[in-house]
Amino acid sequence: MTTPSPLGLHRSFGFGDRLGLATPGHLAALRHVPGFAPIFAQQSIREMARTQRTPEEVMQAAQNALSSAGFTGTWGADGDHLKTPADVQRVAAAGFCFFTIDPSAFVNNAADTMTEIEVQDEVERICADSTFAGVEFRDVYLGHEFPATEGAPLKFTSGDLDRAVVKYGRAVAHCEHMGKAIASACGSRAFEIEVSVDETDSPTRLLEHLFFGLELRRRGVPNVVSLAPRFIGDFEKGIDYRGDHAAFESQLRRHVAIARYCGPYKISIHSGSDKFSIYPAIGRVCGDLLHVKTAGTSYLEALRVVARCEPSLFREIAHYCRGRFAIDRASYHISSTDAAVAALPPFTGSTEEVPYLDEVVGRQLLHVTFGSVLTAGIDSLGRRFKEGILECLQRNDSLHQQLLESHFTHHLSLLNAG
Ligand SMILES: [Zn+2]
Repeated sequence: MTTPSPLGLHRSFGFGDRLGLATPGHLAALRHVPGFAPIFAQQSIREMARTQRTPEEVMQAAQNALSSAGFTGTWGADGDHLKTPADVQRVAAAGFCFFTIDPSAFVNNAADTMTEIEVQDEVERICADSTFAGVEFRDVYLGHEFPATEGAPLKFTSGDLDRAVVKYGRAVAHCEHMGKAIASACGSRAFEIEVSVDETDSPTRLLEHLFFGLELRRRGVPNVVSLAPRFIGDFEKGIDYRGDHAAFESQLRRHVAIARYCGPYKISIHSGSDKFSIYPAIGRVCGDLLHVKTAGTSYLEALRVVARCEPSLFREIAHYCRGRFAIDRASYHISSTDAAVAALPPFTGSTEEVPYLDEVVGRQLLHVTFGSVLTAGIDSLGRRFKEGILECLQRNDSLHQQLLESHFTHHLSLLNAG
């Protein structure tokens, strides 16, 4: 049985597979486009809850598919968005070796808009608790030059530094705590760590990234291979980038320089699927220091199979999703409104997949409701949607794998096109 291992600082791509049937298509795309180390088992704790799958099942599905395809290469397994040491234990026990720490509960998003006085009060509170364990952070960062980016070296003013400490100080202390939990859960087994702050409200400024990266190093968080900043513009699930392309590229260039300086580690692009308009720039700017994570986009290709092969089931699912949208959208960062979803034409047959599977509103509708569809939704005969979807995929496996192969060949080749 093939087992996952750390991928190191190679350009890499995460193929999240919520239904456990997508690995053959992912692998086929990877074979078309050279240059990516793959992660075939990747699921966040939230996704495992929303798909009712265990880390063991996620791992097993990938391993079985890779073994039957005769794959002998190196591959990774990512326990994504881990928030607590208990999360770490769960995925480590199933053999995962790439651990994504999500310290977002400790990020203070209000730091951007606090007054000077509020910032000072908060810095005092942080100094009074164990966040810096007696280390005087101003001595570490003020008055030093950090030649991380092209041009003049980066320097903190005390205002920048205090705000960075307020925003990320407790988060990076949590990463240290999680890093120890990961090292002890893995024992002698090799592992690697990613840190993600992508699911926070305010973009990661360059100096904040510098502070975060230097703190990870100073605190000895082991084997950090990637960091996912929150970028400017909008990285919404399942659709292309929205924002200023030139500004994104120039900021990404400086994030990569900081990652090289503090690590080196890779820049990780979360909600990374379908960002076709910026892939060439991402590939060009990051070089090898790139990891891209995708998940929901494979689920949408699975639903495309249902729309084509079992339109009556897809019609019921689409109808159910429209009823769930107002509630299910709450935990996502998306722009589609209730009114836009209400204005979608009802799905009546296979000719109408485009508004649901190729346009923004329909994709976001199907994306945010996946947990409800897979755990609670039932069809008119009382059968769970999940069973119907899995059966449809098994019956139409070659179409499913073809759709995935071409979808991800498109992703990977655009990343290489810059
Ligand atoms: Zn993420």
